[in-house]
Amino acid sequence: MRPFTYARPDTLADAVALLAERGAEARVLAGGTDLIIRLRDGSVRPEVVVDVKRVPELAPGIRARDGGMLVIGATTTMTEIAAHPLIRRDVAGLAEAAAVVGSVQIRNRATLAGNLCNASPAADTAPSLLVHGAVVVAHGLAGERRIGLDDFFVRSGLTTLAPGELVVAIEIPASGHGRIASAHQRRTRRRGHDLASVTLACGLDATGLTRIAYGSVGPRPILRLDTTGVLAAAASTDEARTPIFEAIFADATPSVRSMRAGAEYRLAMLRVLGRRALATAQARLAAGE
Ligand SMILES: Cc1cc2nc3c(=O)[nH]c(=O)nc-3n(C[C@H](O)[C@H](O)[C@H](O)COP(=O)(O)OP(=O)(O)OC[C@H]3O[C@@H](n4cnc5c(N)ncnc54)[C@H](O)[C@@H]3O)c2cc1C
Repeated sequence: MRPFTYARPDTLADAVALLAERGAEARVLAGGTDLIIRLRDGSVRPEVVVDVKRVPELAPGIRARDGGMLVIGATTTMTEIAAHPLIRRDVAGLAEAAAVVGSVQIRNRATLAGNLCNASPAADTAPSLLVHGAVVVAHGLAGERRIGLDDFFVRSGLTTLAPGELVVAIEIPASGHGRIASAHQRRTRRRGHDLASVTLACGLDATGLTRIAYGSVGPRPILRLDTTGVLAAAASTDEARTPIFEAIFADATPSVRSMRAGAEYRLAMLRVLGRRALATAQARLAAGE
């Protein structure tokens, strides 16, 4: 590991100033479950590591705002998200995704913002946040801006955060069409110590709009909508749903060189997980969960 300076600013202004001043030589540290590994293997070699866990604006916590929006502090851990009653009730797919990230030890450290900023195509929280229309709240020298999560991911390891910007919170807006019932599904080679071979979420509302987001089958997570109502309709046959699923999964481009799973297997699993997540979301919507 290359030696680096460790900084632990107490204010957002100090953190932003440090990140802006040091540019590519600085790296944000949250839970460290991705970053420490990369520091150790030398794939990132910053001069300064900026621990943001003392910055009040990034503090862990899940708050409900007027109008039904949920705001999740950047350093909220997977353990907190998986257990939180509001997340379990209103964003069930996210609670399920957070509950299967890594192992207990990883979930106690791993933060939601870290999962998104790491920009792994396999990030488990990304699909559920995409189907719920999540917004990333970023802060930099120019102040605050909001980035729709679908506009946040570029490719593995790269987001649209500007140099010097950090994520302070993730917002989950209330849907304009009542609640979105969601469900998360994934496949891994083994539990607890592996990233997903396929990760997927489905979100459904009372208008029949179905949102499906999936990851680990291309350079970034993908969000697709079914506006025809065919996926959502309880009376739809599997034959009717098949062409819609095919269109939704048309942009999956799994690597043929991955050590985790073959491309053919991932594409087959997308279709299985898509149907399972849809069925769970339908049941949740019907049950008012
Ligand atoms: C054994 C193991 C198992 C794992 N299993 C899974 C899994 O099943 N599913 C899954 O999705 N992930 C998994 N991971 C990956 C990892 O745990 C998650 O991505 C985690 O959420 C990262 O959060 P962190 O707080 O630890 O991030 P860090 O390691 O602290 O940071 C990750 C990246 O994000 C940047 N960053 C962090 N916070 C901010 C911020 N607020 N603003 C700007 N940039 C920021 C950092 O600079 C760094 O580049 C696993 C990791 C390990 C080691």
